[in-house]
Amino acid sequence: MPQGTLFIVSAPSGAGKTSLVRELIESLDGIQVSVSHTTRERRNGEVDGVNYHFVDLPAFEAMIERGEFFEHARVFDNYYGTSRPAVQAALDAGQDVILEIDWQGARQVRSQLPDAVSIFILPPSREELEHRLASRGTDEHAVIERRMQEAVGEMSHHDEYDYLVINDDFTTALRELQALVISQRLSRERAGKAHAPLLQALLS
Ligand code: 5GP
Repeated sequence: MPQGTLFIVSAPSGAGKTSLVRELIESLDGIQVSVSHTTRERRNGEVDGVNYHFVDLPAFEAMIERGEFFEHARVFDNYYGTSRPAVQAALDAGQDVILEIDWQGARQVRSQLPDAVSIFILPPSREELEHRLASRGTDEHAVIERRMQEAVGEMSHHDEYDYLVINDDFTTALRELQALVISQRLSRERAGKAHAPLLQALLS
């Protein structure tokens, strides 16, 4: 069985990455999202083991010590990391795996797995991003300003990625993500392995 493809998906907060990725994995078979470990507080509605594995700093540091992370980074005030064994097992089983990680993690993954396919999701305009960040709660102007600065910092790394998807119309962006996943499955290298018996029969 051919290995699955590893997809890296990054975006600034407010670009709609999490909703797009959720729809993407629901719309296609054979693809899953890696559940990261984090030291940040659980938000309302988040479920341990589903959205993240929520751990404290000593537990996170112990995982670093044991070399259990494929990549890990400090993002703003918290630590986030991708467990290596879980991702490797899924890829070996032929599943595609999505890592929803920031640019620092993306760099670490690329250096270990140059064949990983990286996608950066962008908002359609600065005004729309500001609007999406502002409508996340009753936050003060200063909080929104800080989020905008963080978003600009993340977006400044868009040029390190293979593909850019603009999330203006959700359905269009979703279709573009599906196209990227499907095109990888049709690559000669992967499809050739998946269809080895067919090729053998056709050529005999
Ligand atoms: P949030 O706390 O809002 O869920 O995520 C904050 C940021 O951390 C996002 O940019 C998200 O992509 C990033 N992030 C989430 N999980 C990981 C991870 O496992 N590794 C890295 N490097 N970044 C992550």
